[in-house]
Amino acid sequence: MKFTPAKAPLTGETLETLTARLAGRQEPAFRAKQILDWVYKKRARSWDEMTNLSKPLRTWLDETFDLMPVSLITGQQSTDVTDKLLLELGDRSLIETVIIRVPQEGVGLDHSRKTICISTQVGCAMGCVFCASGLAGLKRNLNAGEIVAQLLQVCYREDARTPRARQELASFDNIVVMGMGEPLANYDAIIRALTIVNADWGLGFGARRITLSTSGLVPKILQLAEEPLGIRLAISLHGATDEVREQIMPVNKAYPLAKLLPAVKAFSDKHGRMVTLEFILIEEVNDSLIQAEKLRDIALDLHAHVNLIPYNTVEGLPWKRPSNTRQERFADILRNSRVSVTLRREKGHDIDAACGQLRLKTEKDREAAIASA
Ligand code: SF4
Repeated sequence: MKFTPAKAPLTGETLETLTARLAGRQEPAFRAKQILDWVYKKRARSWDEMTNLSKPLRTWLDETFDLMPVSLITGQQSTDVTDKLLLELGDRSLIETVIIRVPQEGVGLDHSRKTICISTQVGCAMGCVFCASGLAGLKRNLNAGEIVAQLLQVCYREDARTPRARQELASFDNIVVMGMGEPLANYDAIIRALTIVNADWGLGFGARRITLSTSGLVPKILQLAEEPLGIRLAISLHGATDEVREQIMPVNKAYPLAKLLPAVKAFSDKHGRMVTLEFILIEEVNDSLIQAEKLRDIALDLHAHVNLIPYNTVEGLPWKRPSNTRQERFADILRNSRVSVTLRREKGHDIDAACGQLRLKTEKDREAAIASA
């Protein structure tokens, strides 16, 4: 389903496109930069705050653009310092954006390392069997403005937490494009959004600290390798053989490992960066020692980092997280061969942190409310 907003989101405009729109009104070239400074550097929440713009220009901007196409419904904070934002779009669709804070020793929460996980679609068509986001299929793609606006909402939230640190908070530690949706299935929007996120007139966020995660759309991985952006790549592998991967990720039928792995290698050769292999450990599905050995071989061949993620239970799905002992045994096979590996201790387990669960729960509540009205 395609959504055409009544007004274009301002957060989807590049300096170039906004300059072109303003040129049509005979505005000087510097005006676009002034407006974008209000949005990204000063974080203006209304047109009236943009005091160095004339009143007629502010009126035109208000009639033409949506300053913030995404609104905050709830912010749910977990006891283990994960923050989950449930956001509503113009058509009332819901998406999730997650802030993961990792406190640094002795400096407290406000100086923690912060990773922001953003969504790129409402729902997902890829059908990975373990995933809450894909349960109801794909509703629609996000546009570039909605993708960027998630990060601005995170800025607003951070500003409210520690107002004096506003400028500093523009620099998160990492952005991961790993939330709801397959980002490479919404290719043009994600590239435009990340261009805005990266630009010094935008959020000014370094490309090397942005990681895009894909389930393995091979032609798009090859296309991404040719982009000048220079972001990092992660592959949602979750199976080290076609047999196992195909059971849980339908995308493997179209792009089996024999096609996927050379594409990943091509990306990593082109950019000279270590790719990450994401591997959700699911009990008795992909946590055998044979899978660990196969994963080790793949990682060694690609010089890839492996991120092991014990499965987060999703209501209504039968999959389970392996015991800690089993997780460690799996990880040891990789460690013993000097593969760079992280066994993640999941953040946000107590707030339905598995991608898509908060949205699903809220949508069910909405449907129940409508049915009982
Ligand atoms: S794991 Fe990612 S690609 Fe797979 S269904 Fe979920 S959101 Fe989509």
